[in-house]
Amino acid sequence: MIEQDNKGREESIEDLTSKVFKLIVEQGKEGILQSRLWKELNLTSRDGSRIAMRLEKRGLVRRQRVLENGRWTFRLIALRLPLDTTSIEGAPCLTCNLESMCTEDGSVSPNTCRLIENWVLVEMSKRIDDKREHDTADTIQVPRYK
Ligand code: SF4
Repeated sequence: MIEQDNKGREESIEDLTSKVFKLIVEQGKEGILQSRLWKELNLTSRDGSRIAMRLEKRGLVRRQRVLENGRWTFRLIALRLPLDTTSIEGAPCLTCNLESMCTEDGSVSPNTCRLIENWVLVEMSKRIDDKREHDTADTIQVPRYK
């Protein structure tokens, strides 16, 4: 089982969960057939299905049963699409071990979570820096020589 492997393996599964979600999001409203996803990420169907179910449990994707080439399979579709996939990179909830216990008004909650708070602060400061760089570039005057 993935959860019982050594720490290195757990980390790689966490990375894979983020990669899987990012790829699903990139497919937009159409989603992606799970078999294609497993192929792209070189995952076994066992590991891939676990990750897909994990994302479904977290309310991030839905697994839609579809008939493809005469066989039943699942299409994975993101439930909410961000404007830009960079906004989900590194989101702590994707790989959080406490996610199953996390509720808005529970003892584990996004309202009191340090991980999500730090992530939001880091993302916000990155965006502010990007905006400053962009604004500075806009205001640099090119000298005119006559
Ligand atoms: S809000 Fe915090 S505790 Fe809840 S799932 Fe996200 S990272 Fe985990």
